[in-house]
Amino acid sequence: MERFDGWAAVRRRARDALAEVVSLVFPDACAGCGQPDAPLCDRCRGMLLPRVTATRAGELPVRSGAVFDGVAARVLRALKEDGRTGLARALAPALAAAVAALDAPGAVVVPVPSSRAALRRRGYRVAELLARRAGLAPVRALRSVRTVADQRGLGRAQRRANVAGSLRAVRGNVLDGRDVVIVDDVVTTGATLAEAARALRAAGARVVGAATVAATPRRWPAPR
Ligand SMILES: [Zn+2]
Repeated sequence: MERFDGWAAVRRRARDALAEVVSLVFPDACAGCGQPDAPLCDRCRGMLLPRVTATRAGELPVRSGAVFDGVAARVLRALKEDGRTGLARALAPALAAAVAALDAPGAVVVPVPSSRAALRRRGYRVAELLARRAGLAPVRALRSVRTVADQRGLGRAQRRANVAGSLRAVRGNVLDGRDVVIVDDVVTTGATLAEAARALRAAGARVVGAATVAATPRRWPAPR
């Protein structure tokens, strides 16, 4: 999937690898660049200031506060894989800006649930934690009803098939007839968000859109 895009990419990959090694030696080093002084240096914090982009998951409007690349990708990875939950605060403005861009005041905010395996491994729910730090009041209205394979390395259609029917929403007046905004950490093809929207609509919700901290730079053709 990845194409060679010159020496800038080589340098970027070398920097990513270096930052990873440094983070192993100094677990509290800057999650964005590996500088050993602070969990997140001022420069990297500045790189996380929200810049909202728009995409779609099927018909569902999706807004994201950052591009899943460079600093944002490394900080999100440190939050998800290294247990550095303190970083959620620095990522929260990107999510808050994405939610605000959907312009759905009063909507119920529903995070995409972590898989049972991920929850066991981490001990916290990533999307829900980010939503709380963004000053939202997330409602745990979705649960995963079956295990899905790792989405990495799968194409758009495979991802959709992989997650189909994997989520279920609570029924009853929590969602019935209510406007709902789905929140998650990252959108790639939007397959998970589309599945979340399907499950919420099945429970009577009016899904207005989805908001994520970051969007993966597009390597797939736009959906029609
Ligand atoms: Zn830094």
